[in-house]
Amino acid sequence: MEEIPVEKIIRSRRRTIGLEVTPAATLIVRAPLRAPAQYIEEIIRQKSSWILRKIDEMKRCPLSPCHEYSEGELFFFLGRAYPLQIVKEGSITIERSDKLYVSRTLLPDIRNHLKRWYREEAHKEIQARCMWFSMKTGHIPASVCITDARQRWGSCTHKGALNFSWRLIQTPPEIVDYVVVHELVHISQPDHSKKFWDKVRKIMPDYERRRKWLRENERLLKI
Ligand SMILES: [Zn+2]
Repeated sequence: MEEIPVEKIIRSRRRTIGLEVTPAATLIVRAPLRAPAQYIEEIIRQKSSWILRKIDEMKRCPLSPCHEYSEGELFFFLGRAYPLQIVKEGSITIERSDKLYVSRTLLPDIRNHLKRWYREEAHKEIQARCMWFSMKTGHIPASVCITDARQRWGSCTHKGALNFSWRLIQTPPEIVDYVVVHELVHISQPDHSKKFWDKVRKIMPDYERRRKWLRENERLLKI
């Protein structure tokens, strides 16, 4: 049997085993507090064909650098995949619920409409996360802007103004938080010295795992 990459097992007060294949094509297992490892392995084995199919989909589809904007194509938002669904009429233009619904009237210029939508949504989410971590850590940005950058997820000017690429909003919330914390720490520590990483670790002890995820998913920046 093909090896299934389990990224982590999250235990909580739940009754059943939950399986989720991430955009990075790894598996996250949610399990009851006392479920024995053997039992979890058995469930993974039973569901292996479904898991491998999902992993294959994730590897092929979501990270491809260009979208075709065909129905069913996956779009990522905060780490979740939303199939594109074109709708005939009604009042909606772009709406995210179980799918990413886009009105047919936007089709001629769908790429730009979606990009604008991503930018607006990114602004709301990232601004909110910045405020939260700013309050928590005392690092206060001069401003928070959303850019179209493809080279990096975020940046910090010498005046303490933070920039984030709208593309960051495709990644899971914990990854957004890492980039936010990284840039907030840059306000007082502009380099990547040991002192910088010590400050990041103090706020976010597991930052290295998140940083690794970003490195492995850099293709999302190219979209
Ligand atoms: Zn940096």
